[in-house]
Amino acid sequence: MKLRKNLVAASMFAGVVTALSFASAGTAKAQGALVMYCGVQEEWCRGMVNAFERETGIKVSMTRKSAGEVYAQVKAEAANPRADIWWGGTGDPHMQAAEEGLTVEYKSPKMGELQDWAVRQWEQSKGKTVGIYSGALGFGYNTELVKSKGVPEPKCWADLLTTKLKDEVQVADPNSSGTAYTLLATIIQLMGEEKGFDYLKAVHKNINQYTKSGAAPAKAMALGETTVGIAFMHDIVTMVVDKAPIKVVAPCEGTGYEIGSMSLIKGAKNLDNAKKFYDWALTPAAQKIGAETKSYQVPSNKATPVPPEAPKLADIKLINFDFAKYGSSDERKRLLSKWDNEVKNLPK
Ligand code: PLP
Repeated sequence: MKLRKNLVAASMFAGVVTALSFASAGTAKAQGALVMYCGVQEEWCRGMVNAFERETGIKVSMTRKSAGEVYAQVKAEAANPRADIWWGGTGDPHMQAAEEGLTVEYKSPKMGELQDWAVRQWEQSKGKTVGIYSGALGFGYNTELVKSKGVPEPKCWADLLTTKLKDEVQVADPNSSGTAYTLLATIIQLMGEEKGFDYLKAVHKNINQYTKSGAAPAKAMALGETTVGIAFMHDIVTMVVDKAPIKVVAPCEGTGYEIGSMSLIKGAKNLDNAKKFYDWALTPAAQKIGAETKSYQVPSNKATPVPPEAPKLADIKLINFDFAKYGSSDERKRLLSKWDNEVKNLPK
């Protein structure tokens, strides 16, 4: 598939609301401000805020949340939106928000500089969301715990089903986390819906916790709190760079990936500033802040250097992820409610 090829070519290569308030939202407009909901790691969110403020003098009020949580907040606030821009997080809730009319169309002058997969995201959402980075899903394991517990080193999704990993696998809850929804959609696309749900029910027996945030299992692995963590490979790489005893795995059966996205909120009170941020966020200077804050995705502007630490997508067996289908409102609601009913509360 073209999308996958382009991705491969390009790669030759917290639950609690954390608010950084530099200006009160109430006085935002008068002071030339921007209210941003941020879906990546706190450090990267802060890096973006600081650089944008330095560059433009526009004061930013930022809230960091997981992807599904930002979507729920934007939806709840639709009648009187607080935020102007939603930057980062997996593309599926951005696509859902686009379909539900919670976000608005915009064509940035920077569109011509972007990878095809980022433009495709924009086209599929009728101009309401755009790709800002990409990265593959995988898992990692704590090499010391694997050794001490006598668990064979897992290489495939199937290896996570061994009884030796009882209560030793961690992943987020797909309702709050874009990472975990990517897992749900990936497993269904790899195995088919029935077998996919059978797999998720089987792996449930080994799950010690469904966390709120998608990167939490990577952090727990680094602390030795779980042997295996399912997360985006780039979030696990961050722990390896920090010298945690962790091995990153691209599952042998193949895996899915995300197109991290950005959208303008319908009814934004600071729309001009939101567009300024949008255009700036697509430049190499802004996108380089990811690697500088230890986030190792593949950036969407063709001229942004791909961090050497970023997992090489060319070496990973990627599925032809159907972003339109799995980002559609009906499908997302149906799958999340099926997961709640059939997997989440199953006895172990
Ligand atoms: N952290 C980074 C760096 C990401 O790229 C993403 C997804 O886009 C996430 C976290 C996902 O967060 P969550 O799964 O909590 O929605």
